[in-house]
Amino acid sequence: MAKMRAVQVARAGGPLELVEREMPEPARGEVRVRVEACGVCHGDSLTVEGQWPDLSFPRLPGHEIAGVIDAIGAGVVGWRAGTGLCPPHASGRRRGAG
Ligand SMILES: [Zn+2]
Repeated sequence: MAKMRAVQVARAGGPLELVEREMPEPARGEVRVRVEACGVCHGDSLTVEGQWPDLSFPRLPGHEIAGVIDAIGAGVVGWRAGTGLCPPHASGRRRGAG
């Protein structure tokens, strides 16, 4: 399976570390986005510090992204690979550990 790079925090208050993960395939109704830029906001700081309730770790902070759709799941209509997008808040089913 293809790999991707990600920045994760393994535990609350831990250091950010560059890791390699398996590239997820989009499930039904999902698209996969190749992230080309990612902002960092106060919410990410709170995530890294473990300040949000019910966080699980390891965690990949960063939800303010811009990128290009590179795979499309079954049942997705109106989107195609190569489309650039900048969602207001990317939640990412597999952005985190699970
Ligand atoms: Zn934010």
